[in-house]
Amino acid sequence: MRTREEILIYQKWYRENKRDKRKHNADGRKRHEEVRNKVFTLYGTKCSICNYDEIRGLELDHLNDDGAIERRKYQQKSLYVKILKNEVDLNRYQLLCINCHANKTWGHFSHTSDTSVLKGRLLNALGNECTVCKETRRGVLQIDHIFGNGSQHLKSFGRSVCRMYKNMLIDPERDSKYQVLCALHNRLKFYNNTARQESLELLSDALEVA
Ligand SMILES: [Zn+2]
Ligand SMILES: [Zn+2]
Repeated sequence: MRTREEILIYQKWYRENKRDKRKHNADGRKRHEEVRNKVFTLYGTKCSICNYDEIRGLELDHLNDDGAIERRKYQQKSLYVKILKNEVDLNRYQLLCINCHANKTWGHFSHTSDTSVLKGRLLNALGNECTVCKETRRGVLQIDHIFGNGSQHLKSFGRSVCRMYKNMLIDPERDSKYQVLCALHNRLKFYNNTARQESLELLSDALEVA
């Protein structure tokens, strides 16, 4: 059995390690963002289809839809670096907002699976438009857990989206627990939650140091 002193030492070590790891991740992300911002500036920092121009809502699109093949060759960050060094053909890419990108991708697949059909019914039940911006393109709409417990919820159905959707459809509290968001606003909600979580962690780090 560990003595109390040993436990305290371990706890201190654990806290400091976690703090270092967080700092390491934050630094890496900052570098990634710098490279990404340079690439996006090169492409005019706006969606080629709808002119949306907030950087967090933009993505690089492979015009020939060979993104999956390319991702196997190199990671996104190294693609950005290659673009900046002019080592790839810049005309193969364009900037799209998350919604126009999602809509384009959606058009490439058929949507006849049980899960797709259930999602369609759920979207209908929840009003079929983004709660924030009233976007209605089907390929763009997503179902959001208002209180942010989506991954836990999915886990409780053995990660079966189909079973989760079935349950959501018959949930009497459906309208207060779920909402329709477009892909863009769903992502922005995620970013904002992550940023809030990180600032809370940084605050607790600062308090520990003090
Ligand atoms: Zn767009
Ligand atoms: Zn929206």
